[in-house]
Amino acid sequence: MGLKNRLSTAASGAATTVAAGALVATGLLSPASAHVAQEAVAPRAAPCIDGAADGTEAARGGPRGADHRDVSVREQQRIEREVGDRLAARGLSRRAAAASSATVPVYVHVMRDSAGGGDVTDSQVQAQVDVLNRSFAGQKSSTATDTGFRFTLAGIDRFDNTSWHQDKQSSTYRRQTRQGGANALNIWLVDFAYLGVATFPWDYSRNGAIDGIRVNYTTLPGGSASSYNLGETATHEAGHWFGLYHTFQGGCTTTNDQVADTPAQSSSTSGCPAGRDSCSLPGLDPIHNFMDYSYDSCYLEFTGGQSDRAGQMWAAYR
Ligand SMILES: [Zn+2]
Repeated sequence: MGLKNRLSTAASGAATTVAAGALVATGLLSPASAHVAQEAVAPRAAPCIDGAADGTEAARGGPRGADHRDVSVREQQRIEREVGDRLAARGLSRRAAAASSATVPVYVHVMRDSAGGGDVTDSQVQAQVDVLNRSFAGQKSSTATDTGFRFTLAGIDRFDNTSWHQDKQSSTYRRQTRQGGANALNIWLVDFAYLGVATFPWDYSRNGAIDGIRVNYTTLPGGSASSYNLGETATHEAGHWFGLYHTFQGGCTTTNDQVADTPAQSSSTSGCPAGRDSCSLPGLDPIHNFMDYSYDSCYLEFTGGQSDRAGQMWAAYR
């Protein structure tokens, strides 16, 4: 979707104008590990491990693999066909769908341990929502695209449960605590080896009860995750929730992340290595893109192609 005119959708509860679809998300891992695999949804969750090639691979994807379930090239093709069918059923062209916009209600679930550890303040939560708004509005760089999506805090709840705090029985706790419809972004704040993990929108129809993103509570603005405490983990995970792949999805291929204006890259980025060029295909690696694994301070933008894709996914699934 482009910055301009998306069909605006309702902010509140369930459906929006454009598409009452449903979206699902994915997530990120903590510095030491990075992203996680999405259990329930993925029978075959083959992680795309980026190894220690860069030394500090930890970033957002790590030794445990991706922060979402693996999607093979064949499944990517199936998803593209499905999106086309869904848009056609709604009488929407891809171009029209790309212009979708919405204000997304955000429910934040603070999963503290039994002693109350792992808490965050209400102001940190609001600061996190503010980061999502700035990043999705393209306010961090003159080259960034305004995706047209905005976020509004719809609720905060807190639980004192050590297992849940450690992200154990995540399918159970998500089912028990998730709020809102397909258009609602649920964020569970936990303490695990990842920065975050997300579900994808095309999985909502089968797994809507666990739809949302799990984010390490230390990554919120002011948190303790060094290099990852500006709140951009939630931005990255929300990107998956909107249907965006990593910029390194598919490696050095022309199809890769299904977005034309994100140059191909062979693997995830760690830190903020200016000039990195890991593929012979045109363009430097998009290290400043929210869908890479760079440091929070290095994250600057979504592209127009990603914005269009997020709008189409919104129209098709959310
Ligand atoms: Zn990711």
